[in-house]
Amino acid sequence: MSHIYATNPRTLGRGICIITGASKGFGRALAHEVSHLLEPGSVLLLVARSGTLLQELKKELQSFTDEHRLMVHCIAADLNTREGVNETVRITRQEAVKDIDHVLLIHNVGSLGDITGFENFTNLEMVNSYLSLNVSSALTLTAGILQVFPCRPGLRWSVVNISSVFALQALPSWVLYCTAKAARKMMFSVLAEEEPNVKVLSYSPGPLDTEMQEEIQRVTGISHRLFPCHESAAKLMKLLLENNFLSGTHIDFFEV
Ligand code: NDP
Repeated sequence: MSHIYATNPRTLGRGICIITGASKGFGRALAHEVSHLLEPGSVLLLVARSGTLLQELKKELQSFTDEHRLMVHCIAADLNTREGVNETVRITRQEAVKDIDHVLLIHNVGSLGDITGFENFTNLEMVNSYLSLNVSSALTLTAGILQVFPCRPGLRWSVVNISSVFALQALPSWVLYCTAKAARKMMFSVLAEEEPNVKVLSYSPGPLDTEMQEEIQRVTGISHRLFPCHESAAKLMKLLLENNFLSGTHIDFFEV
């Protein structure tokens, strides 16, 4: 059963927000958007491998907010390792403050993987490594954070899965990407069914002007119309503020 929460439509509350893949691209834009919407006393945790880029982002965010309003922490971790996932959970537990009324976990990490063709995937370790980052780490991280903040009355709990149109649509040569996005969509649909106190959204952000798209253009030679990350991030914030989607649903940039 899905549950619809009543919320203040102007803020995301006094929250703890964890954004994976925050160092660049869409994750970086999300960090900017979220930081404006959290109430004083909130905590923002930025996760990616590049500690330097995260520190730069932290400075940017702190240039327009003070620490009493928003505490920003960088977690330089490789989410394709058990240590990286555990470290993210450990620091989240450590930095949690009292009187939080919203836990917002945004799974933005994603990699393109090899898009050269089905018959090339003979290497089990390579395939497992791709699925480990793009599927398994999202599951284990969510489970870990759920243990840190058990559901309780008065606590809004939101999980955002950054998805893709290719969670729904098969694209030749993109077997890794399509498989991972489809698996993640189902994984979070199960969470929505299992845990009515957690509001789950799979959001497909549209074609974005990021390094991932540069890689796609380099490999395929095809260029698409791209949208600025902040535009898509703002649409996601609108969905979260209004909070009237059904838990477990999949919403595309072009539908908002
Ligand atoms: P980018 O490749 O530009 O950024 C990916 C982010 O993930 C970076 O911050 C990167 O940081 C981080 N990351 C990558 N590997 C790891 C790892 N092993 N551990 C921790 N962090 C990691 O991607 P986009 O911004 O383009 O995409 C963001 C999300 O949006 C993805 O899930 C993608 O599938 C989805 N999406 C993107 C679209 C697009 O057009 N770009 C379209 C539809 C969906 P670092 O290198 O520092 O670790």
